[in-house]
Parts: sequence; structure tokens; C-alpha cells
Amino acid sequence: MIARTTTLPSDAWQASARQVAPELTAAGIEQLARFRDLILHTNAQFNLTAIRDPAEIDNRLLLESLRLATLVREFAESHAGPVRAVDMGTGAGIPGIPLAILFPDIEFSLIDATAKKVRFVDETIEALGLTNARAIHGRVEELAREPHWRETRDLALARAVGSLATLLELAMPLLEVGGRAIFPKGALETAEISGAKNAANLLGAKLLDIIQLDPLDGCPVTHVALADKMTLVIDRYPRRSGLPAREPLGG
Ligand code: SAH
Repeated sequence: MIARTTTLPSDAWQASARQVAPELTAAGIEQLARFRDLILHTNAQFNLTAIRDPAEIDNRLLLESLRLATLVREFAESHAGPVRAVDMGTGAGIPGIPLAILFPDIEFSLIDATAKKVRFVDETIEALGLTNARAIHGRVEELAREPHWRETRDLALARAVGSLATLLELAMPLLEVGGRAIFPKGALETAEISGAKNAANLLGAKLLDIIQLDPLDGCPVTHVALADKMTLVIDRYPRRSGLPAREPLGG
């Protein structure tokens, strides 16, 4: 149960959060604090995330998710019609839950292959009263074969799920032409970027940019990769479950 004694993040945290995500309301900050407490509470029962310290959850999970706000907003503003987003490998709900709090007009599907994590995300959505998010249990490779998923989404996100080539193979089959992928990343080696460019060519995608973020205390994410879906993905992709991660496209 959520304790009534939920401690709000520090003033310094709130100032940073409002700076990176001006749409964050007081109610939103409270929802984020409750989300952090739910993560802490559940982490005592099973391994939801390796991060156990409350301040580290605030910085490394919540603030990092909020740092994507500008890129999400820019895409939503340039996109005609409602935005349907997927968070692939959401784990405890990162970055999908914080972004669903920020953007009530975007519909979020939070996908994960691990049932226990999906149950946590589902309960969190319920506890926070989020009407624009739902938790989905499954592997992206399999969902992407289903007609009501394939080429139906506008925005794909994923954090700490795989290399850029892997993420592109998972995301592009889910996106409509004109859709966008936004992938927060830590350090990026040249080899990962060139592999991603090759993979993008095979998948009808264009790697638009790799943005370097301002350093933020405690945040391992230092880059964000952006890719647009340009043409339909050929039937072969994504390959069967596990292969996009084990044998990334593009060498
Ligand atoms: N995005 C979260 C979790 C990262 S851990 C965060 O940043 O904290 C990676 C998660 O991705 C795991 O929970 C794992 O179950 C999930 N995952 C990995 N490959 C997947 C796939 N192909 N389909 C669905 N979920 C996947």
C-alpha cells in the first residue's frame, strides 16, 4: 500500500525536473514520488530494479525519464493526430510511467517480457490513476508479428534494453511510416553507431541524430539516439525472439 507519508523528492530535484520537463505539475511530482515508493516497496519482495536507494531512483530512473520530455514533445507537436507510444522492455516502468504522467494526451503501451514486472507496472498504473497507460506482457519480437501491433505505433522508446541495432529491429516493425524512435543511451562506441546505421538501412529507418545530453549528477544516460521510420519493414523483421539481441543486424 502507498504510505501517506510519501516523501517528495528534494527541492533541488524538483527544480531540475521542472527545468527539463516544464509540463510537470505538483500532482505529477506527487505521482512520481508514489511511483518511487512503490518501486522501493516491491523491490523488497523481488528484484524489480538493481537500484535500491530512494535518491538514486529519483535521479537515475525518474529524472532520466523526464529528460526525454523535450524530444517527446517535439515529436508530438510535429505529428498529425494522436500519438500512440510503446515503451519496449519497460521493466519497472522506465521511461514509460514518468512520461505517461507528463503527457496525458499520449497513449502509452508499456511492454515487458517478464510477467512479474508487468504485474507491478499494471498495479502502478492503477494506483496512480493513469488512464493513458497500459501494461502488456510479451516479447516485442512476437507482438510485432500481430496485425494489431505491427506498423501501428507512432513513437517507440526503450532504455537499457539493448544496442541501437537491436532496438531498431524491435522498434521499426511496430512503428507506422513517419513514426519515431527515441532511445536514451549511455556511452556510445563508434562501432555501435555504425552497426546501427547499417541496421537502419535494412529496416527502412533513418538514424536522424545522436544528441549529447548535458551531464546530470548520477544519471548514466548521456546520449539520446533518434531514428525515423521511412518505409515499410520487410516481413523478415524482427527475426525470431532473442536474435535481435544475440546477433544484432548490421555487424
Ligand atoms: N527500461 C527499464 C528496464 C531495463 S531492463 C529501465 O530502464 O530500468 C530490460 C528489460 O527489458 C527487462 O525487464 C526485460 O524483461 C525486458 N526485455 C528485454 N528484451 C525484451 C523483448 N525483446 N521484449 C520485451 N521485453 C524485453
